[in-house]
Amino acid sequence: MSADRNLGCRCGATRWTIATDVPGTHVECYCADCQTFLNHLKAPEYLDAAGGTELFQTLPHAIRFTAGDENLRLLRLSPKGLMRWYAGCCGTPIANTLTSPALPFVGAVLRPGQIGFGPVITHANVTSARGPIRQSGVLRAIIGVMWRAAAAKLTGRNRPNPFFASDGTPTVAPRTLTLAERDAARPRITG
Ligand SMILES: [Zn+2]
Ligand SMILES: [Zn+2]
Repeated sequence: MSADRNLGCRCGATRWTIATDVPGTHVECYCADCQTFLNHLKAPEYLDAAGGTELFQTLPHAIRFTAGDENLRLLRLSPKGLMRWYAGCCGTPIANTLTSPALPFVGAVLRPGQIGFGPVITHANVTSARGPIRQSGVLRAIIGVMWRAAAAKLTGRNRPNPFFASDGTPTVAPRTLTLAERDAARPRITG
């Protein structure tokens, strides 16, 4: 596995690294919400040909901003939606988290084919894919999330969290898409 896990936004102003010594799962998610997020950001190059988003599911402290952290922005597709983080300088997706840090989890968004994160082992939410994709590895991904969270709690190795302050509030105020914005960005599922 390559040790180069330095990622950056499309304009280069925002940079972050993903630690190689924190375990994670390389997932491809085809869900309509992930596609909506990238469509809204006008970042179609982050979707693969089947509409999949590559994610590296790991613990939040694995991500460290090295430049432009003031560009961090937070979007929600609906009032109950995941927290979707991006670089506001140029609209580059960064990561998804839950709404609270109580379960430490982050899905770092990767460019399709990004090396350094091992093979994709999970193909999830395939019913929203553009074309036939076989679902696989979903249980393994879920177990990975739970196992990593439990290990983080036991060892106390869970800080700093770049997305949430110690009182559990997000480091950036979220903005929720309007219904019109969400509808405009939804993928057209052709089946
Ligand atoms: Zn940028
Ligand atoms: Zn998704």
